[in-house]
Amino acid sequence: MMSVFDSPAFDNHEDVRFFCDPVAGLRAIIAIHSTALGPAAGGCRMFPYASEEDAVFDALRLSRGMSFKSALAGVPMGGGKSVIIGDPATEKSQKLFEAFGRAVNTFDGRYHTGEDSGTAVQDMDWASGVSDYIHGTSTEDAGDPSPATSVGIVAGIEAAVRYKLGRDDLEGLVVAIQGVGAVGYGAAEILHQKGARLIVADVNDQAVQDCVEKFGAEAVTTDEIILADAEVFAPCAFGAGINDETLPRFNCDIIAGSANNQLLEDRHGAALVERGILYAPDYVINAGGVIWISDAMENGFDPDRATKRLHAIGDALTAIFQRADQEGRGTNEIADVMAEEIITAAKK
Ligand code: NAD
Repeated sequence: MMSVFDSPAFDNHEDVRFFCDPVAGLRAIIAIHSTALGPAAGGCRMFPYASEEDAVFDALRLSRGMSFKSALAGVPMGGGKSVIIGDPATEKSQKLFEAFGRAVNTFDGRYHTGEDSGTAVQDMDWASGVSDYIHGTSTEDAGDPSPATSVGIVAGIEAAVRYKLGRDDLEGLVVAIQGVGAVGYGAAEILHQKGARLIVADVNDQAVQDCVEKFGAEAVTTDEIILADAEVFAPCAFGAGINDETLPRFNCDIIAGSANNQLLEDRHGAALVERGILYAPDYVINAGGVIWISDAMENGFDPDRATKRLHAIGDALTAIFQRADQEGRGTNEIADVMAEEIITAAKK
């Protein structure tokens, strides 16, 4: 028998609702972790979950993650997440996303959402036909969040380089980028402009070739990239890349990239401390997209305000690095502690 309160991912969530619309084929769960800092925001995932328990676990875990991310990004938003149980390849329809939009409306503005894995701009366009709380539609000003994420990654790399290496510029610094897709390529472009030397790897040969031609990057294989002799290793492809197998092989001072869930397990954060590698916690350094998109929720999109917040990612990281050193703990642990403190203080 499944229970929400007993789920390992339950963390005093404010509200967890189950929605069913058999005509539209909707079965969804929306979890709100906290609205202490503002309306809860978090994307809508669609996935053919093997069990209802898995879907609940994901909604609880991801909504808490959104609370923490917004708290440290300094945006006045809480954390929420929705999951639609279904196969995004075969079960999408206008009716389904309209039913989803009506589900979002039941929170009367306490929950805002947008696309996430398994959903796309078209789906948000459908949902926004019935709901004012849908973002990332084809008509919204903020548009694709990836360039903002790239800007935030570089701001984070600069803060880490300043903290760990005592350097104020990136001139001649070597950055190894694993995955030069939307975010990795954008970061490569900015890093190149700032004088960094790049080593890149991707399964997409064309993306690698573009970096070689435009940014003078050195290309290595996807197996070699984590061994690269570089000051910074930037994982921008996939999660769980920091694990028992890869840990002894890193040849860098800093790990700072956009991939979600970079640590296979929390204990790998402490293992990085042991190895003397400074880790920029993923959800702090990759918050640029959230900062950009959520800005549209505050009296309309203001690119200057959003850009200022993107650059503040570096300040948030520096505060985390300092406290992690003072307390001798992993930066991942300290990020969670600091996020919880911000949310708790806002509740008082
Ligand atoms: P993307 O799909 O555009 O880019 C990922 C790149 O990684 C692709 O070019 C892909 O070919 C490459 N890749 C796949 N397997 C690889 C391997 N084994 N070795 C090297 N490269 C490999 O995705 P993206 O939007 O650039 O996002 C990158 C990461 O950042 C993802 O983990 C994503 O969840 C995370 N992220 C993205 C954003 C955003 O705004 N797009 C925001 C926060 C977090």
